[in-house]
Amino acid sequence: MLKIRKLLVVLAIVSMVAALAAGCGGKKEGDQKAAPESKKFVNIATGGTAGVYYPLGGAMAEILNKNVTGVNATAQTTGASVANVSALKDGSVQVAFVQNDIAFYAANGTEMYKDKKVEGIKGLSTLYPETIQIVALEKSNIKDIAGLKGKRVAVGAAGSGTEANARQILEAFGITYNDIKPQYLSFAEAANNLKDGNIDAAFVTAGHPTAAIQDIAAQHKISLLPVAADSADKLIKQYPFYTKLSIPAGTYPNQDSEVAAVAVMAMLAVTDKMDDQMAYDITKAIYGNLDRIAAAHAVGKSIKKESAKNGMSIPLHPGAEKYFNEK
Ligand code: GLU
Repeated sequence: MLKIRKLLVVLAIVSMVAALAAGCGGKKEGDQKAAPESKKFVNIATGGTAGVYYPLGGAMAEILNKNVTGVNATAQTTGASVANVSALKDGSVQVAFVQNDIAFYAANGTEMYKDKKVEGIKGLSTLYPETIQIVALEKSNIKDIAGLKGKRVAVGAAGSGTEANARQILEAFGITYNDIKPQYLSFAEAANNLKDGNIDAAFVTAGHPTAAIQDIAAQHKISLLPVAADSADKLIKQYPFYTKLSIPAGTYPNQDSEVAAVAVMAMLAVTDKMDDQMAYDITKAIYGNLDRIAAAHAVGKSIKKESAKNGMSIPLHPGAEKYFNEK
């Protein structure tokens, strides 16, 4: 008797769950049908979760959903700049975070885009400097870039702008990938592997402070390897998108002195397939809600309408141009 009652209870639960599941499915379908035909999907390609593109992209998606009628925006994680340009090209995303150097190479068919020029890539705006940060644990005793020879070095995710920066900077110091053990890791993977002693150093091209480096520095004393002015000048001669800057003391826990570095600019790219009105609306929504962006990450504070064309390396989309020309 007890057994039968138990069986009945189980059966009742099973049928309830089934009914619920069916209900959910039905509702979802209904929702999709109810969505207006004109709903425009705006996928934003960002980077890894421990970078800066990702939280900023999330804030931008939220801004677009609130402020641009008929838009359904989402931010997605990716391998960053180079992967994002590919996603723009194949139409799987409509807006992409990209380094200005990578955007230039894509638009002009140079460097990794030699014979693979990306037609129709346009800029919306430039955002903030992305510092090439080269981080090691202090106890590894790696003091400078020359000290990376023979070491296991995270050079960025495959398809990242970071990876291109790592290659170019090492090359300026006469080091090739044959002289190191390159590891293609996202920022989060690099941080974990550095903490666990599986790698010796990592390149991180991102606005500072970067979450991945904060994560390492919270547990270990870190060294940031300098790119001294004379080496930077040599690098800039060959790759003019680099600019010199310094990482101020105290950017990371226990970082007592400032560190000479180089940076590129983060920017937003779209393609000429985006109509002028949409590019205008997106640009206007973002620049009209900079407080929300600044709340997502400290570098958000350096995003300003007045400096939105500084370092723009490719032609601006006419819709963005229209917005920036308005008083
Ligand atoms: N600039 C990096 C890259 O393209 C990504 C930075 C980030 O995720 O914030 O490789």
